[in-house]
Amino acid sequence: MVLAGDKAFLVDTGRGFLNNFADTGLRDVNAVLYTHYHSDHFGEFGEFMVTRTIWGASEPMKVIGPVGAEQTIGNLLRAYDLDNGYRTAHHVDNWHPNGMKAEIVEAEPGVVYDQDGFRIIMFQVDHPPVVPAVGYRFEYHGQSVVISGDTKKTEAMVENARDADILVHEVANRQFTELAQGNLDARLFAMSEEMLAYHTLTYEVAEIARDAHVKKLVLTHFVPWIHDDPVVKAVYVRGMRRIFRGKFIVGRDGMEIKA
Ligand SMILES: [Zn+2]
Ligand SMILES: [Zn+2]
Repeated sequence: MVLAGDKAFLVDTGRGFLNNFADTGLRDVNAVLYTHYHSDHFGEFGEFMVTRTIWGASEPMKVIGPVGAEQTIGNLLRAYDLDNGYRTAHHVDNWHPNGMKAEIVEAEPGVVYDQDGFRIIMFQVDHPPVVPAVGYRFEYHGQSVVISGDTKKTEAMVENARDADILVHEVANRQFTELAQGNLDARLFAMSEEMLAYHTLTYEVAEIARDAHVKKLVLTHFVPWIHDDPVVKAVYVRGMRRIFRGKFIVGRDGMEIKA
């Protein structure tokens, strides 16, 4: 989530996000942006919509994403039509059915939001066969935050993250994957290799941050999944600091980072 001024934007709504969102004390956001339509990035959208409507939302949620938003988010929301009807019948005036609606915008790369000094730029990344897959650059009063989405190493990231105050980047670790592979059958072994093929390896993330001159690098979306343990994380990122000398944060759910 990106917060600036009086605005809040969600980038993706994957599994586990809703509890973290509730912990922030916020009750709603100005828009939800999607990077792509793998389920680990949109799974909890429906429950988020129910929750915001319980909290009192009465206007449709603005949803911005690349092509596919209507099919994925629109259809997901249609699964809640009966639920929305039941709650409307039961709570009458205390339930605003429009809170469960979305105003979906399928956008092309470029400026997708430009309001009150806040600019959001969508850019294409490289996560084949997921096309389109995008990242976002947020700009507000001279400050910038870039969110990679899911991608393998791409020059587009260096260009779009140039001089950013914060780059939040996904990351994959080959050694950790190889450790896990010892316990896998042939099919899962092959799938774990396929995972590495469309994500960015630790040293590649460090190269991107270095080449883009970002001020602060934040790692997220760890492949393979790792325990939230400082020792595990220190081993996971080994070698990265030799490449990228700027500020470096190994992300954790619920963490607040200031530009
Ligand atoms: Zn993902
Ligand atoms: Zn993905």
